[in-house]
Order: sequence, then structure tokens, then C-alpha cells
Amino acid sequence: MSDLVIKNATLSNGDVVDIRLTGDRIVEIGEGLDAEASIDASGLIALCGFVDLHTHLREPGLEAAETVLSGSRAAAMGGYTAVHAMANTNPVADNAAVVEQVYRLGQLAGYVDVYPIGAVTVGLRGEQLAELGTMAKSEANVRVFSDDGKCVSDPLLMKRAMEYVKQFGGVIAQHAQDPALTVGAQMNDGTVSSELGLTGWPGVAEEAIIARDVLLAESLGSRLHICHLSTARSVDIVRWAKQRGINVTAEVTPHHLLLTDELARTYDPVYKVNPPLRTATDVEALRAGLADGTIDIVATDHAPHPSELKECEWDAAAFGMIGLETAASVAQLALIESGLADWSRLEQVMSLKPAEIAGDSDHGAGIVVGAIANITLVDPKAKRQISNPTQSKSSNNPFEGFTLPGRIVHTFFRGRLTVRDSRIVEQVN
Ligand SMILES: [Zn+2]
Repeated sequence: MSDLVIKNATLSNGDVVDIRLTGDRIVEIGEGLDAEASIDASGLIALCGFVDLHTHLREPGLEAAETVLSGSRAAAMGGYTAVHAMANTNPVADNAAVVEQVYRLGQLAGYVDVYPIGAVTVGLRGEQLAELGTMAKSEANVRVFSDDGKCVSDPLLMKRAMEYVKQFGGVIAQHAQDPALTVGAQMNDGTVSSELGLTGWPGVAEEAIIARDVLLAESLGSRLHICHLSTARSVDIVRWAKQRGINVTAEVTPHHLLLTDELARTYDPVYKVNPPLRTATDVEALRAGLADGTIDIVATDHAPHPSELKECEWDAAAFGMIGLETAASVAQLALIESGLADWSRLEQVMSLKPAEIAGDSDHGAGIVVGAIANITLVDPKAKRQISNPTQSKSSNNPFEGFTLPGRIVHTFFRGRLTVRDSRIVEQVN
């Protein structure tokens, strides 16, 4: 196996080092290291490869919007080395056959590790538990389960699911949305929805489910993960739960860290998303929660849709936005440019903590000797104009036209470059 040295990289703690890779491992970190092959990383920050706990890859069934391959390439461009693929495919990933199919497609693509998330209930219908144990024992080794897109709203089912996965160290990732409070809902319930005449989606629809489920987790002694927090009160509830010692983790999406419901005034459905964009006060609370550790991770909720489902009337449009290729830039803007946190915190919320929540042992170890060489090199000073197209097959990109800080320059996945000089490596296998 030949060596490669990444020269003069800045770690998240500020140290400038050389990093030697042999095969798929980091074997040495120091100064003045040399090898036949080297990459000059002067001015670049080396972070542990990002891990997304919430990605929609759309395969099987919706390949016009995204495939495991196209989504994996988008992820690599965003600095990711692992993604967790949500279960709302067609057929639904509620059994061993589908999760194994997605897992193998990920290996075949070879750009990131694709870890399938299993559905909590059969067909995401919220009526009976899916084959959680069979999915856990399958080749895909599923540990995260979610009906994302839908809430596990029946408290008895949610209780049984949490009890069941506790036996093998699994976790339920809840999409918190009380269906009775969101019938026909189109956007955040507030001043803007009243002015536009669009049906409002109250924050309490999310907050009430989070409150219920942290109490369930406490009574069962189970752990719980909450998807895409969107309101200030959701942050307050999770903060309260953590102070009480409840084993809960939470995520926030890039779009909820930057965008607000004012964008609905454009009537452009690219800004239609579930949960909806909220107010500037909510954005501020989400950023503060992410900086102070109440919110554990940034997860993209990358949700590709074909143009016919987004380029239409607001009411008819699908919910969701793409985000894999812009997430790190938005996190840099929300955490670092804002002065709220540093690169070490960004590395935690984009890599270390999501890997820990999901139990991904090959990811999230940091840039340390002996770890698998999953490394993202970021140019922190770059400014880039966001434009389509991207590696994703879909173009529902809410940041199009924005100028965002930072650029992923190189991504190493298991010791091999998947992105070089900000371009996808065409052949990785
Ligand atoms: Zn969701």
C-alpha cells in the first residue's frame, strides 16, 4: 500500500500538521512528513468526514429525483463520508430486503457509506411495527429507525418501538408533527401565513410531540432522537429534557438555521418544506441551541424532488429541499461567521456526534492516528455563489443565488479521494 501525505493541514483545534494515510487509515500525524504522493493543504481546515443522519436518496422507486449514486456523489461534494438514507422510498424500507438493497447500492456507488434507516411502522402507515429486529440483524445492520415524512403519532406504538430497539442499542428518530394540528397546513402559522392566506402550521404541532416523547423516553429509560427542530420552544423543551437527564438528542437542518417564513411571500415552492421555515426569532434560538449543545447535530433533510413537483402552485407542491452540497457552508455561516462557535464545534455537529448517535464506528473518530481516513478539507476563506445544477438529480435548491462562505476542496472516503480540487472524482471503484 502506498502512502499519501496531506501537508500543512489545519486541524479544528488550530494545530497545523501533516497527515499520513496508508490504505484506508490515518497512520501518522506530525511535522515534516513526506511520501511520493502528497496534497498541499496549506490554508485548508481538515475535519473528520461529515456524517448526515437525515438524507432522502429516493431509491428504490423515485429514481427520477435521486439515486443512491447521484445522492452519494452530492454527499461527497458536500464533504460527507457517510449518509443515513431515510425509509420513505417506494417500496418503503420496512423490511430486510429493501434495507439490504439500499446498503448494497451504496457500496456499489462507492462515494460514501450509505446506512439505511428502517421504517418504524409497516408502510409508514403508523398502524403496526415494522420488522425492526430483522432489519437490525440484516446485512445493513440498521440501528436508526424513522417514519420520517410522517410522525409516529400513536403514543402506544411509539412506546413499543422505543422499548423494542432499546434491546439492541437502536434509536427512534421522530419526525415530530401532530397530524391533527397540521391538516392542510402549508407554511408556518403566523403573520405571513395570514397575509398570504395559506393554511398555517403551528409550532405546537411539533412541540407537543417532542414534549410527549421526551417524557416517554424518560419513563422507559430509552433514548430518543428528534429530527429537524424548527421552533424556539422545541429548543426549550429539549434543553429542559437534557437538564433533567433524559437521553434525547436533536438535529437542526441548514435551512432552518438560515431561512425564514418571509420567503413564502415569493410564492416560490422551493421554500416549501416540512417542518416549515419559521421566524427570525426561531432561527436565532436554533443557532443558539446548536452552539450551546442543546441541539446535537446538523442534519440536511436533503429531499430531492422532480421539477414537476416543485415548479407548480404552492398548494400543490411537494415539501422539501436539497442540501447536501451546501450544508457545511450554511453551518459555517450560522456557527462560525456569526461568532457563536468554532471549527471544533462544527466538526462535532457535522461528524463526531451524528456518528455517535447512529453508532457508525468507522466515522466520527476525529483526525487521529488509527482512525479510518475519512477526511474533509475545507477552504474557510472561499466565498461561493450557489448555483444549479449540482451532483443531485434535482434542483430544488433553496440557496440558489446565495453567496455562502467556505468550500469543500478535497474529500477522502476510506483513504481514497472522492472529491479533488472541488470536483467529483468520476471513477472511485
Ligand atoms: Zn421529516
